Amino acid sequence: MTDQKPKLLLHICCVGCGVYVSQLLKLDYDVKLFFYNPNIWPEEEYKKRLGEAEKIAKKFNLELIKGEYDHDKWLKAVRGHESNPEKGERCLICYKFRLDEAVIMAKKFSCDYLTTTLTTSPHKVASAINEIGEQAAARFGIKFLSQDFKKQDGFKKSSALSRELGLYRQNYCGCEFSRSHKF
Ligand code: SF4
Repeated sequence: MTDQKPKLLLHICCVGCGVYVSQLLKLDYDVKLFFYNPNIWPEEEYKKRLGEAEKIAKKFNLELIKGEYDHDKWLKAVRGHESNPEKGERCLICYKFRLDEAVIMAKKFSCDYLTTTLTTSPHKVASAINEIGEQAAARFGIKFLSQDFKKQDGFKKSSALSRELGLYRQNYCGCEFSRSHKF
């Protein structure tokens, strides 16, 4: 009898939430991280967030898969929605854009489950993200782990852990349209 844990691909949108959620999920799953965020602008900011993810993956001995950074492709996907408020249609497209790619990666790496750290933020509506994730995962026969990681003080705990580890915490969601909306 083996105690092999199911494989889970964790899409991480930033390292602060990523480190907290990955430590939580490691108890029950064999976790791989997937950094796929072509929404982030400018590129220097993208590199900064990716660099932090690399540091943490090394520190906690986690495999980190890096997605492509194609911001122009992302911009095309959200065209016409640039002025939408946060949590509006542009954000729904942005979640889908990232989770559609995450599920392809989960399949490629033979993962049983997929989930995302996106629900950790108090600025994100978990039900919308989970619905998009479930639809994307179903197309590939992968289970989407629907969660709301901000619950049980998840956001506070993730902020405290990133402070403790001295991690960079961004002050806006990611895209150029969210830069004026500081956290
Ligand atoms: S505000 Fe955040 S979730 Fe919404 S479109 Fe921009 S990067 Fe994506």
